[in-house]
Amino acid sequence: MKPLNVQHQLLLLGYFCVVSKNYKYKMKTALVTGANKSIGFEVVKQLINKGYYVYLGSRDLKNGREAVKQLQSDNVEVIQIDVSDKGSIEAAHEQLSHKTTSLDVLINNAGILGGMQQSATTTDIKIFREVFETNLFGAVLMTQTFLDFLKKSDSPRIVNVTSGLASLTLHNDPNWKYYKVKSAIYGPSKSALNGYTIALAYELRDTNFKVNAVDPGYTATDFNHRSGPGTIEDAAARIVKYAIVDENGPTGGFFSDDNNPETGVSPW
Ligand code: NAP
Repeated sequence: MKPLNVQHQLLLLGYFCVVSKNYKYKMKTALVTGANKSIGFEVVKQLINKGYYVYLGSRDLKNGREAVKQLQSDNVEVIQIDVSDKGSIEAAHEQLSHKTTSLDVLINNAGILGGMQQSATTTDIKIFREVFETNLFGAVLMTQTFLDFLKKSDSPRIVNVTSGLASLTLHNDPNWKYYKVKSAIYGPSKSALNGYTIALAYELRDTNFKVNAVDPGYTATDFNHRSGPGTIEDAAARIVKYAIVDENGPTGGFFSDDNNPETGVSPW
């Protein structure tokens, strides 16, 4: 066969560039906060395996780049986001606007515990503010900021990563196995996130959005000095399940397999 001349080679190259760019644009996209390690990182991995192009949120760019390298995939890139910093969220939004026109999935995963000693009567209000800043206000700001991208999706999904310890009903049941685990800050910050999820889902009820609060379960991560019995793989799968629900899936729910192993539906 006659070798292609330079002009034809350039034409062919241009064609492949357009095809691969369009292919990337056709892939479903997801943004996961706090994804440089632990549950968030595994969520990214599982979404890539399901064919998504994923923006891996990391408050530390170096850690995020390291995480992306580990994934060895063309379908992931890091995006610097500190959810407690409005400027960082806005900068991430600006950065994303140069890369995509829409977002199919937002997973508000970034979260902090706020230390082990959490007393309702003595813990400094500063710690309450820090935890709420990340666990509640971070998720609110992320949602409000990226809503314009999500609205351009045919099937937008938001998962707010909550905790089984957010259930106010179970905290009032002396027979509940975690009845005595009364973290004065962390639990209430996730109960508040659940309340926000209800309000958000209600406001978006007549749209194609699905918005849910999902507990990954008590899992061995840095979060709890690896004390949890669950695996990161199972924890991430619980989140991904609600990130990819179809149009018949639930919205405005609180799901925790730890609280209700049969159906996953947790009391509020
Ligand atoms: P983890 O190992 O401590 O990882 C938390 C992730 O969140 C890290 O990537 C961390 O980044 C990031 N993060 C913290 N503050 C941030 C901020 N201001 N901006 C952006 N990223 C921030 O925790 P995990 O166990 O994977 O927990 C993930 C989520 O599951 C959290 O929302 C947690 O509340 C929830 N959860 C966990 C358990 C459990 O047993 N592990 C149970 C129920 C719910 P750095 O690496 O920079 O610190």
